[in-house]
Amino acid sequence: ASTQTAATGTAATGTTPDASTRGLVEIRGVSKSYSGHEVLHDVNLTVQPGEVVAILGPSGSGKSTLLRTINHLESVDRGWVTVDGQLIGYEQRGERLFELKEKEILKRRTQVGVVFQNFNLFPHLTAAENIAEAPVALKRVSKSDGRELALGLLARVGLGDKADAYPRQLSGGQQQRVAIARALALAPKVLLFDEPTSALDPELVGEVLDVIRDLATLGTTLIIVTHEIGFAREVADRIVFIDGGQVLETGTPAQVFGSPTHPRTKEFLGKVL
Ligand code: ADP
Ligand code: MG
Repeated sequence: ASTQTAATGTAATGTTPDASTRGLVEIRGVSKSYSGHEVLHDVNLTVQPGEVVAILGPSGSGKSTLLRTINHLESVDRGWVTVDGQLIGYEQRGERLFELKEKEILKRRTQVGVVFQNFNLFPHLTAAENIAEAPVALKRVSKSDGRELALGLLARVGLGDKADAYPRQLSGGQQQRVAIARALALAPKVLLFDEPTSALDPELVGEVLDVIRDLATLGTTLIIVTHEIGFAREVADRIVFIDGGQVLETGTPAQVFGSPTHPRTKEFLGKVL
C-alpha cells in the first residue's frame, strides 16, 4: 500500500515525544485540515498495551481520519503519533518533525495492522496468499514459511479450510476474517478496525465480532471504530466519543453509556441506543 497523502514534508509541532511518552499508542495534539476545513482538532489519546478502545461518534466526525493518522495513511498538520515510543510517519530533527521517506514510512507502519470496512483483499490472490504477501515481500519469511504462517492464522479466524479460496469465492464475513488474519501477519503491536462490520449483511456480523472478541480476550491492543454499540460496551475497556474532530468524552463503557457527561454524547447515544 502507498500513502494516500500529499506529502507535507513537515508537521508543525510545539512539543515532541520524550521519555514521558509511555503508552503503546500516543496521539498528542493532532490536528488536521482538508482545504481549510479542520477535521481533527487537538486530539489526544493514550492507549495502553492490551487495552481495547472503541471510538464512537457521528458520521463525518473524523473517526476514520483519526484512525488513519495512527499508521500515517494520513499526514497531520500538528501534533504527532507514536507506537511503542516510535514516531509514525515522521522523524524528529531538533524541535521539528519531518515526514519520513516512503520506504521508512512503510517499515514503521508494519507495527500497526489495519482492517477496513471493505476488506480490501487482493482479488487475484488466494486467502493464504493475501496473508503471506506482506511477510514474504518484506523478506521476513520464506515462501513456504509464509504459507505455514497463513495457514496458522486462517485456523485462528476459523477458516482453516479456505486457504486456497479466492476472495470472490468467500462470503463478506469470511473475507473480513481473512483481512483480520492478514492484518495479524506482521505481528503488529496494535490493530486498528474501521467499522469492520458495516459492509456486512446482518447475519455475517457475528462471526467477525467473534474473531475480534477473541483477539481482545487474548490481550491484543485494539482500537475499533464501530457503530456496534452493544459490542463496544461488551469488549471495550474504554470508550472514546468524537464529534466535530474533537474527543469530547472518554471513559469506561459503564461511565460513557451509563452517565454520559457531554450533551453531544447524550444526544448521540439517545439516537443509537
Ligand atoms: P467519520 O469516519 O467519522 O465518518 P471521516 O474521518 O471520514 O469521518 O471524515 C471527517 C471529515 O473529513 C468529513 O467532513 C469528511 O468529509 C472529511 N474528509 C475525509 N477525508 C477527506 C479527504 N480525503 N478530503 C477532504 N475531506 C475529507
Ligand atoms: Mg469513517
